[in-house]
Amino acid sequence: MSGRAHWLGLTGFALGVVSVLLGAAGVGAVLCLWYPSLLTTPALRDVYDMRLIRGIIKAGLIVGFLCGVASLLIKRRKALGLTGAGLATLATLMGGSQVEVSTPVRPSDHLGLDWFLINLLILATLFVPIEALFARLPEQRVFRKGWTTDLAHFAVSHLLVQATVLLTLVPAAIFFRWAVSPALQHAVATQPAWLQFMQILVIADLTQYTTHRLFHAVPWLWRFHQVHHSSACMDWLAASRLHLADIVVTRAVGFVPVYVLGFATAPTYAYLLFVSFQAIWIHANVRFLFGPLRYVLATPQYHHWHHAAEAAAVDKNFAVHLPVIDWMFGTYYLPGDRWPVRYGLEDDPVPEGYARQLVYPFSRSGPFSRSGPFRR
Ligand SMILES: [Zn+2]
Ligand SMILES: [Zn+2]
Repeated sequence: MSGRAHWLGLTGFALGVVSVLLGAAGVGAVLCLWYPSLLTTPALRDVYDMRLIRGIIKAGLIVGFLCGVASLLIKRRKALGLTGAGLATLATLMGGSQVEVSTPVRPSDHLGLDWFLINLLILATLFVPIEALFARLPEQRVFRKGWTTDLAHFAVSHLLVQATVLLTLVPAAIFFRWAVSPALQHAVATQPAWLQFMQILVIADLTQYTTHRLFHAVPWLWRFHQVHHSSACMDWLAASRLHLADIVVTRAVGFVPVYVLGFATAPTYAYLLFVSFQAIWIHANVRFLFGPLRYVLATPQYHHWHHAAEAAAVDKNFAVHLPVIDWMFGTYYLPGDRWPVRYGLEDDPVPEGYARQLVYPFSRSGPFSRSGPFRR
């Protein structure tokens, strides 16, 4: 294929992807306008500026449609462009940005479809170009093996955001109310915000380290966490491959010290923003090594070794933020500038597909112990 044809093909593909993303997001956004009480997040509704939202939906649908048409015109294979333009048309036929929202919106029983769409758009816009420009494995495609399973994990954990947040916060309040001391909480919450942020970072990573290590060490817990380790490809979307029980237990335990110590709202939210970004970032398919900084803060290279299918890297690098924690407990592994050759589990015991991974820990299939040389 000539260079020009190659570039045209790539441009057609990129336009097609943008078109499908915008078209699908458009359909989702219009559904949110139709069924706000079912689909949208109460905490977010208060901050929405509806004129701006409608403007964004309209612009997104127009751009999505045009990208789809452009992709159809220049790309030989038409499926992407057709899907994108079709979705944008469907969203427009459903009423587009002008759907009346019935008020008042009931505040309960909703799925976080808006939360899912916002996160997907922001993260895809951020990570797809970064991974394309600075890929560690340039041959790995955006739609690589297992991407639909990971997208389903991403979708469900965001749609169920209300339930998972509740399950994260409630256990601490029920079981650790006795540990709360108003004097201590006052002392903690009146410290400078940056200091509280650093304290949360250290405390949360110590708790997370412990839970994560238990998920590796206890056989029946390992079956839940195996789902996360079943990724054969590492990228930003692979970060979402987590069993719901893994998500809820890790977060609920991590929240206990934050609740007991009573950190102020601003540094807590700043930490939540930071951790949700870093948890994705450390999975990304990027080649940055970060020089000496990699010994201070967990990097993609650091966490990629946690997923490596190599005997030397088994049960290493549990920390999400601070490699020094692994170093203290003897689980640190970072062999210079090297990257793992292969990721995932020996024998591949975890099935593909969201539903099958959800029931996998409860199923009889597969050994209860770790299988193969890479997982004792
Ligand atoms: Zn792990
Ligand atoms: Zn991971």
